[in-house]
Amino acid sequence: MRSFDYARADSTGQAVSTHGANEQAAYLAGGTTLLDLVKIDIMRPDQVVDINRLDLNEIETLGDGRTRIGALVTNTALARHDRIRSDYAVLSEALLSGATTQLRNKATTAGNVMQRVRCPYFRDGVSSCNKREPGSGCAAIEGHNRSVHAVLGTSEQCIATHPSDMCVAMAAIGATVTVEGPDGQRDIGFLDFHLLPGDTPEREHALKPGELITHVTLDAPLENSRSGYLKLRDRASYQFALASSAVIVTLEGDTITNARVALGGVGTKPWRALEAEKALKGQKIGEASFTHAAGIAFKGATPYAHNAFKIPLGQQAIVRNLTTLTAQEDRRTS
Ligand SMILES: Cc1cc2nc3c(=O)[nH]c(=O)nc-3n(C[C@H](O)[C@H](O)[C@H](O)COP(=O)(O)OP(=O)(O)OC[C@H]3O[C@@H](n4cnc5c(N)ncnc54)[C@H](O)[C@@H]3O)c2cc1C
Ligand code: SF4
Repeated sequence: MRSFDYARADSTGQAVSTHGANEQAAYLAGGTTLLDLVKIDIMRPDQVVDINRLDLNEIETLGDGRTRIGALVTNTALARHDRIRSDYAVLSEALLSGATTQLRNKATTAGNVMQRVRCPYFRDGVSSCNKREPGSGCAAIEGHNRSVHAVLGTSEQCIATHPSDMCVAMAAIGATVTVEGPDGQRDIGFLDFHLLPGDTPEREHALKPGELITHVTLDAPLENSRSGYLKLRDRASYQFALASSAVIVTLEGDTITNARVALGGVGTKPWRALEAEKALKGQKIGEASFTHAAGIAFKGATPYAHNAFKIPLGQQAIVRNLTTLTAQEDRRTS
């Protein structure tokens, strides 16, 4: 392992000034991504800023109905929180479908937002990988691209999926990421936070150098909505999604009055399916309208040699989730 400086921060200001605009510095939260990648020499920070002492552990309901989550709230604490379970079931379910209990106990909200891709060519340290070494090529495009490679939002430079479950639920709910950095504080809309690979796959998010995520604030829950997360994967636990859907719907009788749909395992970022949502609005519940919307969600999909199956699988993740949510009386909060 390479040597690096280590500093433990007692305030956000101290964390930000210690990190500075140094692109080789890294914040340390739960460490479940960072230490993994340092050990295999993929991330090479020269300065590690430990933020575990910062006062960013609260989950608060704001006066306008939104919910503010501190960056250091663990995935377990967030999933088990009473208000999250009752008003944002989709988020609780997404969190509990991720990783393992031990990992969720350490993994933090901001760390999950910032987790790196699981593409094996990125992690092996020797293959061509534009994300790890810009301009070197992408071994996945002609290589094995079955499980952690996308069909939506890909480019000729990179096709790796964003691996998070939590972020898919947040994309459906709507959220704001608050950051503090060398130039002060600012808010970033959740859908603008993760970047498409385009020609710059090494740029994964909208943070400027040195910016620290302090909070993620969820939009107020849709009134009288029901929501759920469905994750389809090779094994029932300890596995990333091949395809997943986060769905939130409101109904009037058998008519869909509002719908939010986001997808995981199929996109290069947590994927909000806005056109599918429009197609659902005003439709009667039932297989025909669900299948139609699911088709629209994958209209621009690009399949690769081994992952074409993700298109029908992702469509099924939408149809099944909607079918379950609209059928279950106990999901109805109205
Ligand atoms: C075996 C395994 C299986 C997994 N399975 C899943 C899964 O099924 N679903 C899923 O969603 N995830 C899964 N994960 C990923 C896991 O959820 C992430 O590793 C975790 O959420 C990262 O959080 P952390 O607090 O440990 O972050 P860290 O490892 O501490 O940090 C991760 C990155 O975020 C940066 N960072 C941390 N905090 C901040 C902040 N406040 N502001 C700015 N930057 C920050 C760090 O510098 C680093 O670059 C898995 C991980 C492992 C190891
Ligand atoms: S898909 Fe992206 S992360 Fe994987 S090898 Fe290609 S450039 Fe690297």
